Amino acid sequence: MTCVAHRRATLLVLLTFSNSGFRATYNSQTSERMRLQEWKLVSLGDSVSRFKLKRTLETLASKEGRGTELISLYVPPDRRIHEVMNNLREEYGTASNIKSRVTRKNVQEAIEKVQQRLKLFKTPPPNGLVIFCGAIPYGAPGNEKMEIYTLEPPEKINVYFYRCDSHFHLEPLFDMLREKDTYGVLVLDSSEAILGTLRGQKMNVLKEFTSGIAGKHRAGGQSARRFERIREAAINEYFKRVGRHTNEMLGQISDLRGVIIGGPGPTKHDFEEGEYLNYVLKQKIIATIDTSYVSETGLDEVADRSQDLLKGVRYVEDKKIVQKFLYELGHDTGLASYGETQVRKHLTAGLVDVLLLSEKLDRLHVFVKCKTCGHLEDSLLSRSGLTKFEQELLPKPCTKCGNTTLAIDNTQNLLDEFVEIAEKGSVNLQMISTETDEGVMLLESFGGIAAILRYRPSG
Ligand SMILES: [Zn+2]
Repeated sequence: MTCVAHRRATLLVLLTFSNSGFRATYNSQTSERMRLQEWKLVSLGDSVSRFKLKRTLETLASKEGRGTELISLYVPPDRRIHEVMNNLREEYGTASNIKSRVTRKNVQEAIEKVQQRLKLFKTPPPNGLVIFCGAIPYGAPGNEKMEIYTLEPPEKINVYFYRCDSHFHLEPLFDMLREKDTYGVLVLDSSEAILGTLRGQKMNVLKEFTSGIAGKHRAGGQSARRFERIREAAINEYFKRVGRHTNEMLGQISDLRGVIIGGPGPTKHDFEEGEYLNYVLKQKIIATIDTSYVSETGLDEVADRSQDLLKGVRYVEDKKIVQKFLYELGHDTGLASYGETQVRKHLTAGLVDVLLLSEKLDRLHVFVKCKTCGHLEDSLLSRSGLTKFEQELLPKPCTKCGNTTLAIDNTQNLLDEFVEIAEKGSVNLQMISTETDEGVMLLESFGGIAAILRYRPSG
C-alpha cells in the first residue's frame, strides 16, 4: 500500500471527437461554479475515442430518472442556437403543466441547465451537439443529482430531437459505434458467380452471373484439344465479364475496406491470379476461402465465416502494437514495461511512448482514509472483491494512529485512471480489445497494462 497525498474525483462529461485529438470538459451540479475546463490532447488514437464514447454511452444507459424527467437534445450542425433556445423556452412552458411538483421542478431545472450550456456555443460544432441532462437518483428520494453531459458526436447529426423521458435517448450515438466497414464478396466457380457486399452482419446481393459453359466433358466427335481451347476462351470471356462488373460495382463504394473471394473449386484462384480485377481491388483482397456452394448460399457461407475472418483485419492494429511490445520484451531492449506499478512509474517519469491498455481491464483503485487522523492509503482489487475488502477494513487498525476507523474514501476504475494519465501526458494510447490472441495475452499475462518506452530508463 502506498500513501496518496490527495485525490481528485473526476467525472468525465464532454467528449469531443476531431482529427486533432480529444477534448474533455468536466461538469456536474456540485462543480457548476467551476470554470469550464477544457483540455486538448494530442496523438490519441481512434481506438480511444471509440472506447470512450462506448463507455460514456454505457454509463448514460444505466441512468434512470425517478419520473419522466431526463432530457435528451440532439442539435444538427445547421440548426441555429437561438432557435433551439426558443424551442426550449416552449418546452419550459409546457413543463409547467406537469402535475408532480418534484418532476416539474426537475424538468424545468434541467431545461435551464441545458439553456445555460447552449449559451457557450455561438453555433453548433461541425457534427452537431448532443446534450443529456436530468436529476439522477442516488439512493433515497431527495438524493438526486442534476447531471449534464455534452457530447460532440463522431458523425453528423441529421435530425433535431428533443425528448423528455425516464431514460436518455442514446440510440443515434450507439449507432455511430456500429461496424460500418463494407467488404466486397465474390463467390464463383466456372458455371456461375455472385457478387455482394457485407456491411456489419448484413449481406447484400449486387449481381449474379452465369457462364453458359458446359461441363468438362466434350461432346462426341470433337477433338480434345479443340474442346479445351474453346472452353478456356469461354471461361476467359466469363471471367472478364465478372471482373468488369465487379470493378465497376465495388469501385463505386468509397469506403470499401476489403474484398473476399470464395468458391468451391480452384476456379476462384484462376480468377484471382488473372488480370480480371483492377489493381485497386486486387490490393484489397483480404481472403480467398473455400465454400461448398456458389449462389446466395455461397455468400451466406462467407458471411457466417466473416466474423472470424474480419477480426484479423479489424484488429490488425491491436496485433501489431502488442507484437511490437513483445518484440521489445523478447529482445530485452529495455523498452518494454508492464504491470500497474512499473508502467505508472514510467508514465510519471515521462518515459512512455505508447501505452497499451486492455479494454477488459477491470480493476478498482480503492482509496482508504482514516477518519481519526486522515491518513490515506490505496490498493488495487477486483470489482468482486470490494465487499470482502470493505468487511476486512472494519477491524483493521490505521497504520498511523492505530484506531480502527478506516473507511473507503473513494474508488476509481483503474482503466479510467490510466486513460486520464495518458491524456495529460501526451502519451500515445492504444486501447486493445481481447478479440485477438495478442489482446488476450496482454490482459492475462501482463495484467492489461503495458508500455513501450521512448528510451531505456537509466539505473
Ligand atoms: Zn489514523
